[in-house]
Amino acid sequence: MAKEKKNTPKIEITRENKCSFCQGAKCCTYFTQHLDTPRAMDDFDQLLWQISHRDVRLYKDDDGWFLLVETPCLHLADDGRCGIYESRPQVCRQHSNDYCEFDASAEEGFDLYFDGYDALLEYCRKRFKGWDKRMKRLNKETKA
Ligand code: SF4
Ligand code: SF4
Repeated sequence: MAKEKKNTPKIEITRENKCSFCQGAKCCTYFTQHLDTPRAMDDFDQLLWQISHRDVRLYKDDDGWFLLVETPCLHLADDGRCGIYESRPQVCRQHSNDYCEFDASAEEGFDLYFDGYDALLEYCRKRFKGWDKRMKRLNKETKA
């Protein structure tokens, strides 16, 4: 077991210095897109198509349903700084580090979270009793 380091001064993390401790600037490594609330099987069929793409997730929280695309911003420099800081978009300016991804993973605040196709398909099967029957019918129609 590693020995505890002695005499290491503890640095208090504040709003002002927090971002400098954030490895990889987590808030710049994804974007989200608000969705109309999915209700019908066709809506979920569309989501299954979207989540079939690499690094696309889906979640629901108090604000509704969102696509989450995990891809770093092209302006994020290797040192974690913004390459277009002076002209960065409004949404970046409005993002607060008060209680952000540094403090807790975003997933903790989600009511529902789907990390891929299989998880969403399982949800669809539970939510709609006729999900698989519908697929059989669609397959027949496609062959006809
Ligand atoms: S706002 Fe939060 S997640 Fe973004 S760089 Fe600062 S500490 Fe990291
Ligand atoms: S524009 Fe700058 S602040 Fe906004 S996501 Fe990209 S790197 Fe982050």
